[in-house]
Amino acid sequence: MSELPPADPPVEASRPDVVLVIIETLRADHVGDWGYARDTMPNLGALAAQGTRYEHAIAPAPWTLPSVTSLLTGVAPAVHGIHHADKRLPASVETVAERMAAVGYDTAFFGVNPFFEQDMGLQQGFATWSPFQGHTGDALNRELRPWLQARTERPFFLVLHYYDPHCRYRPPARFQGRFDDAPSETLAVLSPEAYDSMGACFQLQQDDGSPELSLDTYFDAYDAEIAAADHALGDALGALGDIGRRDGAWVGVTGDHGEEFWEHGDHGHGRQLFEESVHVPLVVRPPGGAAPVVVDETVSTMSLTASLLSAAGIEASLPHVLPLDDPGAHALVVSETHHEGQDLVAGWHDRDKAILDLSNGLATFHDLRRDPKERIAGRPNPKLLSELTAWHRAIEPWPTESTEGPSTEELRELGYVKD
Ligand SMILES: [Zn+2]
Repeated sequence: MSELPPADPPVEASRPDVVLVIIETLRADHVGDWGYARDTMPNLGALAAQGTRYEHAIAPAPWTLPSVTSLLTGVAPAVHGIHHADKRLPASVETVAERMAAVGYDTAFFGVNPFFEQDMGLQQGFATWSPFQGHTGDALNRELRPWLQARTERPFFLVLHYYDPHCRYRPPARFQGRFDDAPSETLAVLSPEAYDSMGACFQLQQDDGSPELSLDTYFDAYDAEIAAADHALGDALGALGDIGRRDGAWVGVTGDHGEEFWEHGDHGHGRQLFEESVHVPLVVRPPGGAAPVVVDETVSTMSLTASLLSAAGIEASLPHVLPLDDPGAHALVVSETHHEGQDLVAGWHDRDKAILDLSNGLATFHDLRRDPKERIAGRPNPKLLSELTAWHRAIEPWPTESTEGPSTEELRELGYVKD
């Protein structure tokens, strides 16, 4: 007598809702749980109190397009190959949303950034793909709520990408002045005309590259934008609660990259791999919550993607990327940028770091425990450098397709083109 194979369990019963929240331009060291003096993200802190907070999470790239492509595919920029806006993911690659849809997930993306309005191939696998320009977190949530209220029993994979902390730093009215010690000097009190006269993001600096205003002024406004994004996060979690889908959901929150404020001579993001550009918050709240855990070891936010696939019960082999709870995920962590004339890869072994300039083969080293702000060059670390080089040599790139991408003017508005 032969046994019948067991019936597939209904997806509703076996797979949790999975929510990935990405916040633009979010430096870990400007978030209270990561040691910042200002409580910029109380809602993220409350989520971390029910799950795992990663002290040292590294974004795979210091700017949106390659980093978000990595979060939505689970592979490094060197693998997916979207280093510039002139390349798109072809239909032949399998995105995380496609894997989720294949096992029955309802999939949706709500995000603010001009890249999402272009056909970069990132929409593959999303039944709902809702890109916006210029939306605040509140405005994004107004688009999100009707979608949530229309959900059936089917589990969903929901990605939210909030834009608020990205330059220009002009917080919504009710967040303006939240952290200002000297309100008369803040960016928030600048008139829209004054803002416009300063042009796009990088023109917040003077011709010689020095800051236009005091650093505190930038931080007051940037931190208020972070608080606005955190408010939106709390509001989105509340909206999940309103339909009874908050507590049972698997929720991951991270940043797509950080932001430089002249720590190493520049402002913005995209061209450097110092900590201010790539060290981002990372929190995972499992279904039902858990006792809080803080993981000190260095991890990649790509491992967040591997973890969300695990949470959905999907066995996926992602090249060079392991789930956060796999001990191997704490081995070599990488980030890279091949943008605006730069060709850099960085590798971390916990707090030992090497940055390799592929254009000339020169490497710099940093011991982040002794010198967390990377003020001095550390002693050479040949073992780490050889691991990083071996990683780079072992990469088998995916195919890419050419595309027009956003216009130069749109890229300038984002701060990615310097005049
Ligand atoms: Zn970004």
